[in-house]
Amino acid sequence: MQQAHEYPTHSIGFKSKGGLPLLASDSLPGVTVTATLSRSTFSGPTFTGLRCKECGHAYEASARHVCEDVCFGPLEVVYDYEAIQQRVSRATIEAGPASIWRYRDFLPIAGDPIDVGTGFTPLLKAGNLARRLGLRSLYIKNDGVNMPTLSFKDRVVSVALTRARELGFTTVSCASTGNLANSTAAIAAHAGLDCCVFIPSDLELGKVLGTLIYNPTLMAVKGNYDQVNRLCSEVANTYGWGFVNINLRPYYSEGSKTLGYEVIEQLGWQLPDHIVAPLASGSLFTKIRKGFDEFIKVGLVDHKPVRFSGAQAEGCSPIAQAFAAGRDFITPVKPNTIAKSIAIGNPADGPYAIDIANRTGGSIAAVSDAEIIDGIKLLAETEGVFTETAGGTTIAVLKKLVEQGKINPEETTVAYITGNGLKTTEAIASSIGEPYLIEAQLDSFNAAWKRAQAKAPSPT
Ligand SMILES: *Cc1c(COP(=O)(O)O)cnc(C)c1O
Ligand SMILES: [Zn+2]
Repeated sequence: MQQAHEYPTHSIGFKSKGGLPLLASDSLPGVTVTATLSRSTFSGPTFTGLRCKECGHAYEASARHVCEDVCFGPLEVVYDYEAIQQRVSRATIEAGPASIWRYRDFLPIAGDPIDVGTGFTPLLKAGNLARRLGLRSLYIKNDGVNMPTLSFKDRVVSVALTRARELGFTTVSCASTGNLANSTAAIAAHAGLDCCVFIPSDLELGKVLGTLIYNPTLMAVKGNYDQVNRLCSEVANTYGWGFVNINLRPYYSEGSKTLGYEVIEQLGWQLPDHIVAPLASGSLFTKIRKGFDEFIKVGLVDHKPVRFSGAQAEGCSPIAQAFAAGRDFITPVKPNTIAKSIAIGNPADGPYAIDIANRTGGSIAAVSDAEIIDGIKLLAETEGVFTETAGGTTIAVLKKLVEQGKINPEETTVAYITGNGLKTTEAIASSIGEPYLIEAQLDSFNAAWKRAQAKAPSPT
């Protein structure tokens, strides 16, 4: 097993003349990098370190995620927004690549990214679904076609593994509900990093195969995600690997901000009025908000209030339950739902998600497994988008919120579809139609077509 190398402390946080820290790109362990920033297209990192979200205590930009010195709160990346503002405009972003790296000045990387084409997925105007639900202006942000592994996790992993490489890690890992394992294994393969990932042993076949194909070491743990996660915290301490969602979590989670940036840009540099997104740990939800706030802060978009609504499955809805009870703390639950990719019983960012929903006049709701299946089918039939169970949860909650009058039909609403349906076919296999099995003869077709027409209104 290869050990991660400590990032040389003395090369972090030096101030250059421009006030920006010099950080190593492709750093070799033990080598002090003094300046690697002379690129024509990129003028160096804009992040300056980490900071505790609770008490504000500052840390260097190393592989750590909790405020060990003071309060054990989560750490967040700190940026020099003046530097970003000076360097970035709508035009410079539009001239960038059609990937998350067009926003690299807002991301915590120091050198060249691991570029697997992640991001800039379609924002679809969902006219049919809007009419069905009684909305005027509905959009689907479709990360089910993200690259390389068809979920939003490609965003967070592209950022986390780029940073992992900069920090000198040679083995990367994660605790996953499925999509994160796919993404970590694929992008590690591309980057030539060793990879060992952990999943609950009861995941869908598509998620398991979609990890194994990249030939990582895959540990299927007899337990739920929360137990996998606890095990991984111990492994992280013992083995010194780069865990994308543990010791690299501050960098990893920043990747989700790009789902905020892209929607603003794709709406023609405007904020939506209301967003609906799925909640697992709650990280994605909070980072869409951070993405919106940053674009306001640096003057890329005009401020306007945006309502944030979150979606959970009833079989794992600790955040929705806390929201409904008016609590600001989470009571952990044991997951039991077909929406495995968002089945986190003890969600780390739950309290922050509740705070955002409350502050913005949004809502957090849960739907049953049957409603999730209906949500998957509704999106497919109306818009031609086949999403996995997390997306079905989002669509079912969207429908529920409209019915409850919690979404104003006149407002521009964006529903975030975060994963692809081909990975969770088990969930819908017994709830959709079957093909007509016929002979290769016109008679046989004629008879079957008659039966088909008797069943459904004729396609006119
Ligand atoms: C991981 C995941 C989410 C949400 O993750 P957070 O932990 O809340 O950031 C949503 N949808 C899918 C498909 C996922 O895999
Ligand atoms: Zn703290």
